[in-house]
Amino acid sequence: MIYLDYAATSPVNPEVLDTFVQVNNRFFANTSSAHKLGFEVGQLELKARQQIAKLFMLKENEVIFTSGATESNNLAIKGVCLKYSNRGKHIITSSGEHASVLNSFHQLEERFGFKVTYLPIYDDGKVRLEDLKNAITDDTILVSIMAVNNEVGSINDIEKIATYLKSFPKIIFHVDATQAIGKINLLYNNVDLVSISAHKINGFKGSGVLLKKENVDLAPLLSGGGQEYSYRSGTTNFPYEVCISKTLRIALEQQKIHYQYVKELNKILREKLSEIDGLGFNSPIDASPYILNFYINKKASVVSEALSNSDIYVSTQSACSSKKKSLSHVLKAMGKSNLISENSIRVSLSHLNTKEEMIEFVNTLKIILKQIK
Ligand code: PMP
Repeated sequence: MIYLDYAATSPVNPEVLDTFVQVNNRFFANTSSAHKLGFEVGQLELKARQQIAKLFMLKENEVIFTSGATESNNLAIKGVCLKYSNRGKHIITSSGEHASVLNSFHQLEERFGFKVTYLPIYDDGKVRLEDLKNAITDDTILVSIMAVNNEVGSINDIEKIATYLKSFPKIIFHVDATQAIGKINLLYNNVDLVSISAHKINGFKGSGVLLKKENVDLAPLLSGGGQEYSYRSGTTNFPYEVCISKTLRIALEQQKIHYQYVKELNKILREKLSEIDGLGFNSPIDASPYILNFYINKKASVVSEALSNSDIYVSTQSACSSKKKSLSHVLKAMGKSNLISENSIRVSLSHLNTKEEMIEFVNTLKIILKQIK
């Protein structure tokens, strides 16, 4: 098997899995319980939270455990808007964001009367600071921009945007860092809210974190017993908390080595793919090396199916259901034609891949492209 869909999800690191089994067996008590067992787990939960806080140079109360980046994005975006709507009703995002961001903005626009500016992305998949500058009004309370695009790997200049936004105390800056954390070196110093997911970096699916600066408040989406500093009620999933702490620690410790290695894989892949007639790249040259999006002169869904039959797993942009055909909103926003979108494939890499896999993938792709009429 050659798995090239790591931006979709990744296998759990055996070390993390081991921690899960041990913690789950030993510390099953409810962290909120007022007895010794509960207290013990509560103390360990605090430790896991402190460890994550330390990784990002934050305080423990700036770490909120969630069920993944979808929830982190929803909590950040809707939480800010519902909390601060008295300050203004204009919010800004980009047209290349993940559905969990875009659909949160749509809901706020359609159901809660917010005015939304969707910044364009260009053929490099990035937003422009100039466009953001022009979009800001006295009424703006939130800007949400992703760090790394999940379809093409484009990297937004988060530091530059954050620095610029510093002079607007009313504006809260949220970053969806799902495809960046543990992969790309970015500084989040001046970012108010950062969404993180465990399963893209060999942690568990259904596990995430929202980093939230202390001076930012949120309206909770889940009301209840007041867990997670009242931002996210519900009995805490203690084993997952310990595991995401470990997942993040390992990913950040290994980030530099993994990055260099994956960059090398990406280079080989680009070179080998360039030999194919009619193939072009959608990912810009300075994209995250973890994601490579390209088009061919055959339908991507057909090619992907043939690859899958050869035990090679990639993603297509054209997620076609039998009834409805939907093309990638990211490629569309980048100005790509419908034909290019239909013919586009996303390969996403990991330190777990090998050079041999890159070569075998391209060789198989060449054969498949010749076979398909
Ligand atoms: N944002 C981005 C950029 C993503 O790639 C993903 C996962 N596809 C998400 C958010 C959602 O993450 P999760 O699966 O943890 O909800």
